[in-house]
Amino acid sequence: MSYDPNNVFARILRGEIPNNTVYEDDHVLAFHDISPARPVHVLVIPKGPYKSLTEMAQHGKDEEIAALFRAIEKVATLTRVRDSGYRVITNIGEDGGQEVPHLHFHVLGGGPVGPMLK
Ligand code: 5GP
Repeated sequence: MSYDPNNVFARILRGEIPNNTVYEDDHVLAFHDISPARPVHVLVIPKGPYKSLTEMAQHGKDEEIAALFRAIEKVATLTRVRDSGYRVITNIGEDGGQEVPHLHFHVLGGGPVGPMLK
């Protein structure tokens, strides 16, 4: 299935839905999850139209991939979880439990995150 330009994160990127931004650069937007699973729960997304890690790994430019990787670390610093520790998750496809079909990394922390999330 191709990228759905009307998914909720595409709409956030177009400014059609508000978000609580933590970090932004030319390639990446990071914002607080609307339904936080932990005290810190930020979503880090590429601005390019990639459905999941699979598509970005195949079609993304190296510059975009590097920016996304670095943004995750910046978000950890900005949300003050870098030194205490945090978890990064990306769900891929149906079996991975992905709900929004635009690649996103969950950055979770602000206390022990415990065993793997459901
Ligand atoms: P997934 O299950 O696809 O890995 O995670 C999707 C995440 O997006 C969920 O944690 C959900 O709470 C979050 N989410 C869904 N809709 C919105 C929205 O409109 N705004 C924000 N900030 N987060 C959203």
